[in-house]
Amino acid sequence: MHRALALYSGGLDSLLSILIVKEQKVEVIALKFLTGFVFPLKEQDLFYSQNFGFQIKEIDIKRKFLTVLKNPEHGYGKNLNPCIDCKILMLREAKQLMLEYEASFIITGEIVSQRPMSQKRLLLIHIEKEASLNGLILRPLSAKLLVATKPELDGIIDRDSLYDICGRGRKKQFSLARKYGIEKIPQPSGGCLLTDPLFCKKVNDLLTHDELTVENVELLKIGRHFRLSEKCKAIAGRDAEENEILLNRQRGIFIYPADFKGPVILITGEFSDREIDKAGSICLYYSKNKNVPMIIKINGEEIRKNFNIISAEEIIKYRI
Ligand code: SF4
Repeated sequence: MHRALALYSGGLDSLLSILIVKEQKVEVIALKFLTGFVFPLKEQDLFYSQNFGFQIKEIDIKRKFLTVLKNPEHGYGKNLNPCIDCKILMLREAKQLMLEYEASFIITGEIVSQRPMSQKRLLLIHIEKEASLNGLILRPLSAKLLVATKPELDGIIDRDSLYDICGRGRKKQFSLARKYGIEKIPQPSGGCLLTDPLFCKKVNDLLTHDELTVENVELLKIGRHFRLSEKCKAIAGRDAEENEILLNRQRGIFIYPADFKGPVILITGEFSDREIDKAGSICLYYSKNKNVPMIIKINGEEIRKNFNIISAEEIIKYRI
């Protein structure tokens, strides 16, 4: 039996592509690349994998992706999404895995002209060349609009069973979803945080302060973020769960109300009394009781201190 690797985002297009190829008696292993800006595999992904009979694997490329994000050769999309370089990176990684999994080609859910940045016909060819995968990337949803790939020429895949979908419409994909019995339709793509303008504001802050690390990106997913100085940030938990996550961190300074009725604030980077005062007054702003002292926890030691509350105008100034 022939085997293919699929770039799997968790979105409808990548799922359909897998099912189309599986129908042709090709075993598919889906690869979910973890860039740090997409969500790991969810229950729904595992459900698809079990119900439709394909393996699914997470591949961690967070560090490599950050190098791309800091300086993408092909630039950014509408927000901070470096889609062209991201695709090239994923395909290069997939190419390396082809040997390990004894796969003879790669599948993607790309659709010609669906997205402005990475899915124009010429760009698809360029991406393929950059990843040194000429003729080895099959895009089942748009294959009939593209030059025949090696698996088609070798008779592994019947070109007549592939599709000629083009553009942003979703009608044909929905009809295919019905054909394959996909009841809960996933998003077209897997949901990348780098397409969210609000999230990108926080990423841009890390980029401009040269603080873009895997650990700092992880922290962007929780809490309210404040830039206290060029080298110092504060993150305030928004609920008990986020407070717990912040408190469980090994490094940093923590500030929280002595009665625990408020946020935990984590201070990261280089700080002085000035930054501690700012963080303490932010903590008081979000605390339930405004007359309560704060606990400052440094290296396991706890100090009690009273702070003046910050004004709403000032909060806006510091909020990222
Ligand atoms: S949207 Fe995000 S995950 Fe998708 S190609 Fe662009 S950067 Fe990569």
